[in-house]
Amino acid sequence: MNTRVRFAPSPTGPLHIGGLRTALFNYLYAKKKAGTFILRIEDTDQNRYVEGSENYIQEALEWCGMDPDEGPKNGGAFGPYRQSERKDIYAKHIQDLLRNGAAYYAFDSAERLNKERKEAEKKGETFKYGHQNRLRFKNSLTLTEEETAKALEDDFVIRLKIESDQTVIVEDIIRGVVRVKTDTLDDKILMKSDGLPTYHFANVVDDHLMKITCVIRGEEWLPSLPMHKLIYTAFGWETPEFMHLPLILKTVGKGKLSKRDGDRDGYPVFPLKWGKETQGFKEMGFLPIGMVNYLALLGWNEGTEKEVYSLKELEKAFSTKGVQKGSARFDYEKAKWVNQQQLQNMSIEEIYSLSRTKEILSPFEKNKHLSLIKLVKKRLNTLNDIKGELAFIKSIHPYDKKVIDKVEDKNPKTILEQIKKTLIKYDEDDLFKEQMMSWSKKNGVSIGLLMQTFRLALVGKLTGPDIFEVCSVLGKEVSLKRINDLIEHLNFKQIL
Ligand code: GLU
Repeated sequence: MNTRVRFAPSPTGPLHIGGLRTALFNYLYAKKKAGTFILRIEDTDQNRYVEGSENYIQEALEWCGMDPDEGPKNGGAFGPYRQSERKDIYAKHIQDLLRNGAAYYAFDSAERLNKERKEAEKKGETFKYGHQNRLRFKNSLTLTEEETAKALEDDFVIRLKIESDQTVIVEDIIRGVVRVKTDTLDDKILMKSDGLPTYHFANVVDDHLMKITCVIRGEEWLPSLPMHKLIYTAFGWETPEFMHLPLILKTVGKGKLSKRDGDRDGYPVFPLKWGKETQGFKEMGFLPIGMVNYLALLGWNEGTEKEVYSLKELEKAFSTKGVQKGSARFDYEKAKWVNQQQLQNMSIEEIYSLSRTKEILSPFEKNKHLSLIKLVKKRLNTLNDIKGELAFIKSIHPYDKKVIDKVEDKNPKTILEQIKKTLIKYDEDDLFKEQMMSWSKKNGVSIGLLMQTFRLALVGKLTGPDIFEVCSVLGKEVSLKRINDLIEHLNFKQIL
């Protein structure tokens, strides 16, 4: 049987990385089994619909390199892939359940239900509409056929009739067998009179009709599984396999990772920007594979020490055995580390080919772009770091006072004059470096002090890329000018 999995987000805003991790595990599962990865938009809840979300989801998947094989954009043989376009299908299927007695119409007013709810609350109970009380209410089980026909002219809902005293047995790939007594379940609404199905009903019908072989989704849906199983049974359908993924927790403390955590601590929780204010991993300078690789580690590991993967490697290595039961904690520092590792695996040319890199380098002369990347590559966690790392090219002032204090009484001018002399003679190449090194040895000037003084002149502070490479990128003319500037600055300080 062809493996078919689906990612089924509701378009209620930007795609949170928790959702994206679900998409990724579906994608990897499909690739591993040479199956089909489907995108289905679950947009039946009109109140929660947010314009632009579907496009966002599609773009995010494409940016990650996880273009769906079937979906609203690419089409496919099992469409439509937007639930709002599948109303006829649900209408037809609900009739099957009404006919075989697995579902029934209910006409109770909101006031009546609220009253019941309040009364239950008073007793410290949660109101449930189901086997224990359904015969006290206004529904097609208690009304005559004529009364029902009449009542259908007004608003109604259709509920699943769950029999009491039964045990639903469901199986989850990660958690094993779960048994639930039907007595604890209520008669869930499947459809309303506006013809729109609830999530549960549409989800099961679509998974069946789209021939989904394994449902992979977040753990928050595990409690719904027994109910879903009952819908499959009501239709006489076989269930697919199920895999519920562990939650992604905030970095510290309890609870799921939220947008608020990201806003507070300055990290993204979305792949792409949303509106003007919310930045995504992309805008923070992440490579798609940097983010994807990190997400793969949130709840999965191969059972080895390996942590850095290309997408192709992930596709090969992924297996449900490696998916963990326990929640995974989000760690932005680790995400940056993974991204840094991915950057180191790329060539200078590959990094340069990225539009984000070009954008960041645009203020610099074009013919220097490649050497600038080469200069700072090792120091990058994200592409955005390029900007900060190259700040010294434009300006190095003011000098770091602490460094001035440190080198001031150690003959910095002699060192600077020597650098100048050597640079003029040998250019900013390997020979120049060699000469400087042997000079420092011969004259008892520590290499550390030589480097610090040189760095102070060219960069203005002690951090930054290899100083001889900096000199080479700046070129002889600029480097000499910066050395002279520092000499002048030191002279000026002496007069004071
Ligand atoms: N529409 C649901 C969501 O957005 C999908 C749950 C599922 O995959 O069954 O989480």
